[in-house]
Amino acid sequence: MSHMKQMNQKMINNIKFLFNEIESSGKICVIGHVSPDGDCIGSVMALYEFLKTEYDKEIYYGFDGNIPYNFKCYIDENLILKDFENEKFDLLLVLDCADEERLGKYKPLISNSKKIICIDHHRTNTKFAHINIIDQFISSTGELLFHILKQENKQISLKMAEFIYTAIITDTGNFAYSSTSSTTHRVAAELIDIGVDVSKIDNLIFNSKPISTVKAYIDCISNINFYHNNKLGIAKISDEIIKRNDANISDIEGIVEFIREIDEIEVSCVLKEYSKDTTKVSLRSKNDVDVSEIAVKFEGGGHKKAAGFQINANLKDTELILVEELEHLL
Ligand code: 5GP
Ligand code: MN
Repeated sequence: MSHMKQMNQKMINNIKFLFNEIESSGKICVIGHVSPDGDCIGSVMALYEFLKTEYDKEIYYGFDGNIPYNFKCYIDENLILKDFENEKFDLLLVLDCADEERLGKYKPLISNSKKIICIDHHRTNTKFAHINIIDQFISSTGELLFHILKQENKQISLKMAEFIYTAIITDTGNFAYSSTSSTTHRVAAELIDIGVDVSKIDNLIFNSKPISTVKAYIDCISNINFYHNNKLGIAKISDEIIKRNDANISDIEGIVEFIREIDEIEVSCVLKEYSKDTTKVSLRSKNDVDVSEIAVKFEGGGHKKAAGFQINANLKDTELILVEELEHLL
């Protein structure tokens, strides 16, 4: 197939630089953002798989936070980089991560690595790396990685294709969000040609929920609060709900998208109780409200229609803050 993604010269140069750096490095580590999601895990593992099979080097990967149940089969958790305080990498590859804070416990690697290259698609990316390969108009870091590999005529194995396909379907909500382009579909088509079994991946990612997770999900959605003429919906995942259902907070996904499905809703929020005074906020917008602006205001980030941040406040106070923040936007 003729190639698809138009790249500017700077991007092409950066990609050349990336592969030159890979060639000349002995010890490489690939990491993503804290509380990894499908795009983070898929793109990190695809790049790791590529490096591992194409080069004879020391290659590591790192994930900070729980691996959600549906991605556990993608990773060997024993291989996740631990004890890295004294590690010095020639090259640190940071994927799907918009800023240094989002590296979580791996943040010190920034000062311990000779070269840092970031591959990302967040519009809020702070360009913290030496080389930043960023395109905010691409659906997912997985898709961007595909274009990068293709640009240099690299082979994409079936395993890599499965990882990249996973990254794309999770970040596009199965090709539904506005970041999905015709090119995204062409990439998916190529991945299927490589051999990706779409139904197998669908079952792994979407049809494998633990019953405890679903019960906790039901408890959360039975308590959605609506504000501003039902344009804003907020659900809270409290520690009490998690404990009552013996669930895992990092496994409960999809509530924020569920709320957005309601006709009147313009913005949906899910608040996760990380501790008594720490709340993780997920924001989604249906049309024109740019939720990344709200997230940035609270030192978070993301995209126009999907963003998030963490705040030092309890669930109730966070809810009040959001109701107020969104009042003039809705
Ligand atoms: P989610 O709500 O699924 O956790 O995240 C939605 C989007 O916002 C993702 O693209 C994610 O990377 C971004 N995001 C979520 N939380 C944060 C945060 O605390 N900081 C930054 N920079 N981005 C975030
Ligand atoms: Mn992403």
